[in-house]
Amino acid sequence: MRTLVSFSIAAALLCFTSLCRAEWHQREEAIMGTRIAVDLWHDDPAKGEAAIDAVMAEMRRIDELMSHYKPTSQISKINAHAADEPVVVDVELFNLLKTALHFSEITDGAFDITYASVGYLYDFPRHVKPTEAQIKSALPGVNWRHVHLDEATHSVRFERPGMRIDVGGIGKGYAVDRGIGILQALGIKHAEVTAGGDTRIIGDHMGKPWIVGIRHPDDKTKIITRIPLVDTAMSTSGDYERFFDEGGVRYHHIIDPHTGHSASKVRSATILGPTATETDGLSKTAFVLGPERALEIINRMPDFDAVFVANDGKVLYSNGLAPPK
Ligand code: ADP
Ligand code: MG
Repeated sequence: MRTLVSFSIAAALLCFTSLCRAEWHQREEAIMGTRIAVDLWHDDPAKGEAAIDAVMAEMRRIDELMSHYKPTSQISKINAHAADEPVVVDVELFNLLKTALHFSEITDGAFDITYASVGYLYDFPRHVKPTEAQIKSALPGVNWRHVHLDEATHSVRFERPGMRIDVGGIGKGYAVDRGIGILQALGIKHAEVTAGGDTRIIGDHMGKPWIVGIRHPDDKTKIITRIPLVDTAMSTSGDYERFFDEGGVRYHHIIDPHTGHSASKVRSATILGPTATETDGLSKTAFVLGPERALEIINRMPDFDAVFVANDGKVLYSNGLAPPK
């Protein structure tokens, strides 16, 4: 199991030989409507801070490109025009859309960026939800197979009117991977980058694995399990992130593309894997398909593991993490 890498002395030696100067640099900022945190080890304070600046700048750039809240973003342009004509986008966004459609394929459509065709009718902070009639008329716009990508022109076209896309379910993971890429290019060997529920770690932490906790769905001060991580990405999705309760029903931000309602088959889902783009894309699956089918998918993927908190509070693990029987 890749996350349970044995104790490494590399960082400890680094720490010992450059004890006077090397240190951890940490910063948090609010970007992409979420908490961005960078934590890295560098022996030059100015270079450590400059590396964090570069990661934060990259997060802002990705937000400009991909936010559906910003009318000037390429996502907004696609949503405004792709039903009428092909919309040419940057190769970077084009490739991310390709990845998103791939995740639809491997999750049996649980992950679907066209969820937004109905998702835009919800406003969780304002406790707004669509009527059944509104859902019924918007649902035909939800179908990832109706997004057509043209490799030759890098353009996007929708097969029918009323379609929208939103990369909120994969964009933060992608931004985390870009941030880690920047740090690696700068030669940094020990770091953690987080955007909301998406985290990626390179190297270890003072010669030991980084310890990341998975919170209790109903109490953020309680940790249900701790996982040691080295060179791994991890994404957690939860029904407690953006939600409101009404009439005994929890309305929250993960939408079942088949029904247009909030997907409620688990309380939280954590995926571990090589990149945060991938773990982000997979962390919605169990909410839509249920924990059993989601575990089947994850157990077929050799580099991935999962921890789900089921609706009855039970914690379920994929084969790679399951405690010995
Ligand atoms: P975060 O936004 O904190 O990273 P998640 O990774 O759990 O949280 O992603 C939730 C987001 O995914 C939603 O806010 C929405 O933008 C998007 N989303 C919701 N339902 C789906 C779905 N079925 N497929 C793809 N993306 C979805
Ligand atoms: Mg996410």
